[in-house]
Amino acid sequence: MRRTRSAKIVATLGPATSDEQAIRALFGRGVDVFRLNLSHGTQHDHARRIETIRRLEKEHGRPIGILLDLQGPKLRLGSFEGGRAHLDAGTRFRLDMDEAAGNARRAPLPHPEIFAALQDGTELLLDDGKLRLRVDSHGNDFAETTVLVGGPVSDRKGVNVPSVLLPISPLTPKDREDLAFGLSMGVDWVALSFVQRPEDIEEARTIVGARAWIMAKLEKPAAIEHLDAIVSLCDGIMVARGDLGVELPPEQVPELQRLIVRACRRRGKPVVVATQMLESMIASPVPTRAEVSDVATAVYDGVDAVMLSAESASGRYPLEAVAMMDRIVERVEADPSYRAGIDATHDAALSTTADAVCASMRQVASLLAPAATVTYTSSGFTSLRAARERPAVPILSLTPDLAAARRMAMVWGVHAVLVDDVRDVAEMIECACRTARAEGFAKEGDDVVVVAGLPFGQSGTTNLLHVARIPR
Ligand code: PGA
Ligand code: MN
Repeated sequence: MRRTRSAKIVATLGPATSDEQAIRALFGRGVDVFRLNLSHGTQHDHARRIETIRRLEKEHGRPIGILLDLQGPKLRLGSFEGGRAHLDAGTRFRLDMDEAAGNARRAPLPHPEIFAALQDGTELLLDDGKLRLRVDSHGNDFAETTVLVGGPVSDRKGVNVPSVLLPISPLTPKDREDLAFGLSMGVDWVALSFVQRPEDIEEARTIVGARAWIMAKLEKPAAIEHLDAIVSLCDGIMVARGDLGVELPPEQVPELQRLIVRACRRRGKPVVVATQMLESMIASPVPTRAEVSDVATAVYDGVDAVMLSAESASGRYPLEAVAMMDRIVERVEADPSYRAGIDATHDAALSTTADAVCASMRQVASLLAPAATVTYTSSGFTSLRAARERPAVPILSLTPDLAAARRMAMVWGVHAVLVDDVRDVAEMIECACRTARAEGFAKEGDDVVVVAGLPFGQSGTTNLLHVARIPR
């Protein structure tokens, strides 16, 4: 079973897509990575989904990626008398630590760490930015504000504080429990929400270790200021346009998306564009033309993956949404201007042995037009460096490590296959030719470009390039 596109599809599972039949159908339509959104559902629900995915994986003999998306420190108001209140523009509104239900003049904000970090003039956004408050004065456990933009609020609505670097960990106690659960279930990627600084990645890394790869969700202005450091520390990036477009004016999101995608491609870190990609398909079997264009734009920019959120988790047309995304990606990649654009935005190789070898692979691939590139990798490192080159032929990634094969489901152009350990180069080349043929990438007499690192089994040693002809 083989996909014929390079950009991958990530789909979020939820109430609309929880049973085996639904998950199987999503995979059949083109999902490469399933996202579990820990902001919703119980660990029990997610455990059942993970078991289903792993069963499916066995059935198809194809590695499937699982992304555990942690809720992170999403700030929320407490509750209101009768569940709701209406704030009027121009009136005073107080936020404090008093647990008593709120009203039109005050409400609980049960986050003590926030108050101290505020400054007079700081703007607070409520309910995805629908309401705005300006801080007039504050203490260690309260803030007096003026309502700039009013409207209805209700229990537990979200609060964003865009302009302030908050002194909070990206991992709440709930995140830590969810993370331990996910790691014990063998998820492949862990996404951290509301990352603010490079140290946030390091903190998560001390817990996760080598058990999963870490994806930083960029949705805070503070994170953009540390973009390069965050990109180099994490294993992948998600452009989380939902919260990013609340924390910053929405018209800034497109330029940031491009900036982030460029930074990730430069370093060879997988990048996912997420949120509202086919939003109208939550309720409609066809997307708007603007949404189709949005997905296409991300693909033209060379992203590793595009993502579905509510469209696949709770929408009425999850299968149609995946099929639509699949068709858009296929269409873009068949356009000659796609290849021209990818080449034009390609950054020169970094001066490391691995990148020098992979840059040579790219050149050999463009001169010889081989049937495929084959990487032999223990950790996935060689395949990532090969994917950074965005070669014009598919990357067949051979690995004896199932975890590495699954992680590759997120990566542009990579088709991962689990193989046995090899003892020497001859055996590795033989394995590359046999697998390229068996997986339908090459036939007798075709050339393949093989990239690997010696000694085998040691990550980061990419140093070998070999052109092999498929024997009879
Ligand atoms: P979320 O993240 O769906 O977990 O909020 C994505 C986003 O903010 O865009
Ligand atoms: Mn978010």
